[in-house]
Amino acid sequence: MSVIEVKGLKKSYGAVHAVQGLDLTIEAGEIFALLGPNGAGKTTTVEILEGFRTRDAGSVTVLGFDPQSRGHAAREWRNRIGIVLQSAADAGDLTVIETINHFSGYYSNPRNVDEVIASVGLEEKADALIRNLSGGQRRRLDVALGIIGNPELLFLDEPTTGFDPEARRAFWALIQKLRGTGTTIVLTTHYLDEAEALADRVAVINSGKIIEISTPAELGGRATSKALVSWRDGENIKTEATDNPTSVVTRLAAQFGTEIPELTVTRPSLEDIYLTMIGGTHE
Ligand code: ATP
Repeated sequence: MSVIEVKGLKKSYGAVHAVQGLDLTIEAGEIFALLGPNGAGKTTTVEILEGFRTRDAGSVTVLGFDPQSRGHAAREWRNRIGIVLQSAADAGDLTVIETINHFSGYYSNPRNVDEVIASVGLEEKADALIRNLSGGQRRRLDVALGIIGNPELLFLDEPTTGFDPEARRAFWALIQKLRGTGTTIVLTTHYLDEAEALADRVAVINSGKIIEISTPAELGGRATSKALVSWRDGENIKTEATDNPTSVVTRLAAQFGTEIPELTVTRPSLEDIYLTMIGGTHE
């Protein structure tokens, strides 16, 4: 059975139709990214999946359960889910280890606290007060709190906003490690390189509807779009768009008889494709 199944999901706030008939299936062990401009309906969708908002129409199951249900079963269900909100950790007067210890008490099958601290790279800050952490370190703590319960399913909302490049790479490695343990991960992000580095599949959402669901490599016909071959020819940089970059490079190799100066072969980036997809409909 799929981890998440959404059919015909709708949600309005008064006259604002935030989600307008959304279908989505996410399989066990996937990293799935939701992409879309501000106001597209990502947070609304994710918060419905997390059980924090009610829907107007459609069916939703998450780990085989309707997130809108309440009672004992809902508490057991919540135990299987980890959530990293945009900034959760706010207990400024507790240390890192105290906070993680405290949160671990909420779960029936928590991970080992020291292991979690090590996996997010906060060993040296274990005894530091939260209010003395840097922005990136706080975000790591947020992730630690999201995974302490040993979740089968983890929601990450814009996890690396404010990270320096090195911290982002370290964070990506952490998420890949989590995937390796079989955790299903739903990610929202505005960083296309992050989606590309992490996601098995991405959904592009705009105006409450899904425009396309695909792998990052194939989104918007990316895998079959023309390649750009460019090289230096005397004073000029020349560029040729082609379906057969190999033949262009072979021709150039014969022409130059030696290394082709400043040769590059590129395809549109995920960001290029994404911006084309949402272009014109961006509100
Ligand atoms: P962002 O990338 O900016 O986080 P998003 O894709 O997460 O955007 P949502 O937060 O789901 O978008 O918002 C979708 C639409 O619903 C927006 O027009 C927003 O203004 C509106 N909206 C969201 N929450 C509420 C609310 N509680 N009351 C009224 N309108 C809301």
